[in-house]
Amino acid sequence: MSGERAPAVRSIASVKGMRDLLPPETAVWAAVEATARRIFGRYGYGEIRTPILEETELFVRGVGEATDIVGKEMFSFPDKKGKSLTLRPENTAPVARAFVEHNLRERALPLKLFYIGPQFRYERPQRGRYRQFYQIGAELLGDPGPACDGELLVMLACFLRALEFPQLLVLLNTVGDEASRAAYRAALRAYLAPHRNELGEDSRRRLDTNPLRILDTKVPAERELLAGAPALADFLSAECRAHFAAVCAILDRFGVPYRVEPRLVRGLDYYTRTVFEITAGGLGAQDAVVGGGRYDRLISDLGGPEVPAIGFAIGQDRLLDVCPESFRRRALPPPPVFVAPVGGVPVEEALAVAEELRASDVPALAELQPSSLKAALRRADRLGARRVVLLGPDELAAGELTIKDLASAAQERLPRSEALARLAREKEAEPGRGAPAAPGEQETARLARDDKETV
Ligand code: ATP
Ligand code: MG
Repeated sequence: MSGERAPAVRSIASVKGMRDLLPPETAVWAAVEATARRIFGRYGYGEIRTPILEETELFVRGVGEATDIVGKEMFSFPDKKGKSLTLRPENTAPVARAFVEHNLRERALPLKLFYIGPQFRYERPQRGRYRQFYQIGAELLGDPGPACDGELLVMLACFLRALEFPQLLVLLNTVGDEASRAAYRAALRAYLAPHRNELGEDSRRRLDTNPLRILDTKVPAERELLAGAPALADFLSAECRAHFAAVCAILDRFGVPYRVEPRLVRGLDYYTRTVFEITAGGLGAQDAVVGGGRYDRLISDLGGPEVPAIGFAIGQDRLLDVCPESFRRRALPPPPVFVAPVGGVPVEEALAVAEELRASDVPALAELQPSSLKAALRRADRLGARRVVLLGPDELAAGELTIKDLASAAQERLPRSEALARLAREKEAEPGRGAPAAPGEQETARLARDDKETV
């Protein structure tokens, strides 16, 4: 030893607003994703995976220049040749790009796609708001009819019920078509213009760029002012009204609880007609868990054909934050069986027992370093094991195993195959088994049979 001090080395932390997801929490994330795949698959959705980087212009044109996302939240940078690239802040514009690029309208329409993956927005990090966050989303492309809006929301409700959310409320509105919105925009501007000085900086800017967005302001004084504003509902065309009524009728029939929120407009430019949000209590200011709506113009805005579409994006980070305990418990992996060689039995013999357990799908850990029985039991306990298999020279010679219950300290010596079979049976009875079908999952089907019942 030289006695010299090593120079202090700066330890490196993750980038601001980006976090590591660690086990066992990642098991719950995976179970949520498996549930999405299973439920969306039932409705005919196939998975799409788009690149994380896109040309910046895709979002400028697709999401809209006047939106917060494009205006202030994008991670954009030039590549080595100076072309501006952006880490995707959302996945609908990339899906629309892929639809055009691969000429997917040649397939049977409507085309149903879902995605699961990270998104990036340069926002002020806080609970429920990260710079890298995850979305689970679905898009239905190529059909303008209200049955699509309805079916998509029924699927979303089915998914949330499979996660065992006890209550569910979709906040629903229609923002009309281009014509109704243009008329409304003019009326809203005319109403707000004399009050310009009472508006905050954000809303003043929006008055010029995107006045509809002022409707979802959170500033109390602005909310008061808006109470007397003209209502979007009065500017809707007969077709838009009929479309909305048909969507509501489907939600009624299939038992999806909703509330019409006349001021819900959503932040993205591309929405037409149906828009919706699902919020959850207990999340503070960041309470929106799902956002979505119809976007009949997006694909043509991106240079593609006229393809009406509708979709939603679930914020997976926030969803996990409020994920019901019952689902969470079942999603966690079952406790491992710990195999301890004792009395000088070589660790390889413990490994062999662990391998046999694993072969029957029982999670098993073997003590890999020769150690005392006491140390092995302590480690088993820290690793969350409930059963320890003890393998001493007597057991080895007799072809037997001792199963010890850590909680009661009771132990029983059994023939090897019998002991292994018992541990396999016990695992089957454990609650945590990946992504099990939830008891509430049949709920939508049951409600669908009874028009009048609501949750
Ligand atoms: P918010 O109003 O909370 O900023 P948003 O309207 O910008 O949400 P959308 O673009 O509709 O969000 O995205 C859909 C969902 O993605 C949101 O409801 C939310 O759950 C999630 N989400 C959006 N931004 C973030 C973020 N920075 N961190 C974590 N989740 C996010
Ligand atoms: Mg936002």
